[in-house]
Parts: sequence; structure tokens; C-alpha cells
Amino acid sequence: MDNLAPPKPGARPASSFVYDKAFVNGEWVAASSGKTFEVVNPANGKVIGSVPDMDATDTERAIKVAYKAFQSWKETTAKERSTLLRKWANLVNENIEELSKLLTSEMGKPLAEAKGEITYGGGFLELFAEECKRVEGDIIQTPVKSRRLLVLKQPIGVSGMITPWNFPNAMITRKAGAAIAAGCTVVLKPAEDTPYSALALCDLAKEAGIPAGVLNVVTSSRNNAGQVGKTICESPLVTKMSFTGSTAVGKLLLQQCASTVKKVSLELGGNAPFIVFESADVDAAVQGVMGAKFRCSGQTCVCANRIFVHESIYDEFVQKMAVVVEKDLKLGDGIDPGTTQGPLINKKAVEKIEAHVQDAVSKGAKVVCGGKSKGGNFFEPTILTEVTNEMRCSREEIFGPIAGIIRFKTEEEVVGLANATSSGLAGYFYSRDFSQIWRVAERLESGLVGVNEGVISTPDAPFGGWKESGLGSEGGRYGIEEYLEIKYVCMGGLQ
Ligand code: ADP
Repeated sequence: MDNLAPPKPGARPASSFVYDKAFVNGEWVAASSGKTFEVVNPANGKVIGSVPDMDATDTERAIKVAYKAFQSWKETTAKERSTLLRKWANLVNENIEELSKLLTSEMGKPLAEAKGEITYGGGFLELFAEECKRVEGDIIQTPVKSRRLLVLKQPIGVSGMITPWNFPNAMITRKAGAAIAAGCTVVLKPAEDTPYSALALCDLAKEAGIPAGVLNVVTSSRNNAGQVGKTICESPLVTKMSFTGSTAVGKLLLQQCASTVKKVSLELGGNAPFIVFESADVDAAVQGVMGAKFRCSGQTCVCANRIFVHESIYDEFVQKMAVVVEKDLKLGDGIDPGTTQGPLINKKAVEKIEAHVQDAVSKGAKVVCGGKSKGGNFFEPTILTEVTNEMRCSREEIFGPIAGIIRFKTEEEVVGLANATSSGLAGYFYSRDFSQIWRVAERLESGLVGVNEGVISTPDAPFGGWKESGLGSEGGRYGIEEYLEIKYVCMGGLQ
């Protein structure tokens, strides 16, 4: 945290959010084993600090705490929960500068993007503060005169959560905000790379007055992630599991949850198509693809993964995109003003991107710009042309700053290619043909579609994948439903 500018007068410094303890039952606690692990700044390799390396024993304890807290939290009124969530949201917004610095130092994204994420994250708390008052049941028309049929919606119970490193703040508020609003309590394991943003949220939740035991964060290293996850998934006291991360881990957790038949939400990997049709405004499409591809250095599950451009505008699009990449993108430490491309999360991520470029080039792709690592965890923003569907960068989630551009001829062909994947998270297309817009928006097999927009996530809208990209939806009024059970009550014997 040594390279950070001082906070504004009166504001808490980012370093005051750097806890070396996890957060259980409203207290800062060490692992029962006493073990810790280090958290490293991906931009410079420096150690920020250490946090507890918790295991199954610590997780069980947190689950028991959350279960006990649930017995009273579920009895609170929506208005009470709303007031606390609103306070929590306000505190997040008041501390945005320092929370952003903290996020950038552990995750690497540029400060401006970190601020965007904290605003987005606080937005979920604000939204769920409002939504919790709108959880409504039903009275159904009765077929029998002496009966009345009611539907109640009630909190599902202790909710387990495992979150990723690419949105260390917003993935927590999107899940925990919804759960707490619904009247549930939470046991959450943040990614090992980014525990500080999670712990900062606990600090602010406590300050907002959210009672002890309602939000519990168990930190663990990658080595212990498996046992923490398994303990949550197999605990009979936990009735809901929500995960955002890789498809492989999501499938494992789904299997583990089968033993107790939990309700499961999964936000998994994507392979988003970004299609530029003949009628598109090419300049707008170029601007759109910059956000959809290079935000977070390409490390989001909704990032454009396969860029399909109609053959009639292919060369124009590539040339214009290359100009913008060269002019607008600046690689560096996210904390430095002017940086638009931070480091990748770790060395393994850089190696994967290098392998993608080598594979594509060996199969005939051309490097228009970038293509190389720049030392440490940095990789140049890269454009590859003459990319085909057989290359790894078309078949796998890239999760890095490579834009692979594929040529197509017809709408039918490109929609078929776009859907020819087991993923179905986001899809984007640019077109000015009104009929085509409706046709393609309806035909894309994905949970999110951006039409003439490259960045579409907002707390107000549902976010969820089709096919192997996930189960359930987060955000908007749909997000809170994931934490509710439906109960049918039949009142009989009425005179
Ligand atoms: P990535 O490869 O991008 O880190 P992961 O799916 O591996 O994506 O990680 C997302 C989250 O899942 C992190 O919090 C990580 O610690 C956690 N995780 C990784 N492996 C397991 C596992 N076997 N069980 C439970 N959680 C896991």
C-alpha cells in the first residue's frame, strides 16, 4: 500500500481497511490453525499483507454462527433490513476513493475501473435495500369456497458464497446484498487473490449496524479452497449456495451440493460472441468492442471472446480498431493515472495468453498489434486477424487482452457460429437493421445481449448465463428471488 496517494482530508486511508483477520460473528478472527497466507499486488509482486488461511473447522464454526444469526435475522422486517442495507451502501459510496485504491492494489485493474466497480457494487446494496420491501406473496383464486390459498415468500436460510478475484467488491454485494435483503445470513469465501475488498465490506457492514453473524467472511488460500467449499456445499445447515468463477469449479460445487439438495446459483465462464453486421455503425462498433474486450484487461466472464465482422467491413473495422488500441490503451500499474490496462492477475494467466497467441499464429492468424508479454504480469493489448473457429482463442474463454477477429458472410452463418458453444453468458452485436436486431437478439443463446452496446451490466438488470454458463440470475428484482423459498398456505374450514 506504500505507493498510494494520501486520502482526502477526513477520509479513512485505504490502509485502514487492510485487515489481517477474517470476519466471523462480527469479530475479526484468526484461523484456528493459526495459519496465514500472503496477498500480493499483481502489478509489482509486493506483499500487501497476510490473512488467515482458514479450513473446514473454521468454516463449520462460521456456518453455525450464521445459522444462529438466521433465527433472529429472518424475523426482522423488510424496512429494518432496508435501512441497514441503505446505510451500508452509503458507507461504500463515502469510501469510494480508498476502497478503489485497495481494490486496485490487490487485483490490478486501473483505478478508474476500480471506482466504477465500487459504484456498481454499492449500487447492488442500494438496489436490494429497495427490492427487499417489494418481496410480495400472492392470494390465489380458490376453487373451494371454504378455503383461501396464500403464497408466502420466505428467506431460504444460511447462504454459502464463493466469489472470484476479477470483481472483488461487486460479486460480493451482488450476492450478499440480495441474501441479506431477503432475510438470509451469509458465509462467504472470497478469492485468495483479493480478500481485502471482502474484509473492507465487512468493516463497513459492521459500521452500518448489520448484526453480528449476518455476514461472515472466511478467508483461505487456494490450497484450502477445496475444503472450505466442500464444507459449505455439504453442510445441512446451509440451504443455498451461490458461486461465481470457472465452469470447472462450478460443476464440482454443483455435485457437492447434490448431497443436501441445495438451491444453487452459478455464474460461470462465457465465450461471448461480438458480431458486427454489414449495416453497423463501424465507429460505434469499434468503441463498443474496446469496452467489451479490453475492460479489466479482458478478465471478465462477459468479455467479447470471439469478434465476428462481416467480410464487407472487415478491413475497415480492423484498421480503425488498431488505431484506437494504439492511441487509447496504456499498459501500466493501475494506480498510475492514465493507465487503462493493468496487469493480469498472475503469471499463470500470462502464460495462458501467450499460449493462445502461439496457437492462433501457428494456425494462420496474423498479429496486427501487441502479441507479447511485457514482463511481470503485463501483456500487451493484442489484435489477431484471420482467426478461425478452430483456434483455442475461439473455443476457450480467453480471459485476457486478445481480440481475435473472425470473418463471416451471412447472418445465418454467424448466428450458428455464435451459438456453437456450450457457454451462453453474454452476446453482443452491432446492426442498424431493425428486423435483424429483433431476430438476432432473440436467436442468440445467451442470458445477456448487448445491442449496439459493449458494456451492459447494471445492478438493475438480471445477470445470468444459459447452458453451461450458469444457473439462476443475479441483480435486479430477480436476484432476490434466489434467496427466497415459496410456501403455499391453505386456510380451510372457513364458514
Ligand atoms: P480462477 O481460475 O479464475 O481463479 P476459480 O473458479 O478457480 O477461477 O476461482 C473462483 C473462486 O473459486 C475462488 O474464490 C477460488 O478460491 C474458488 N475455488 C477454487 N477451487 C475451488 C474448489 N475446489 N472448491 C471451492 N472453491 C474453489
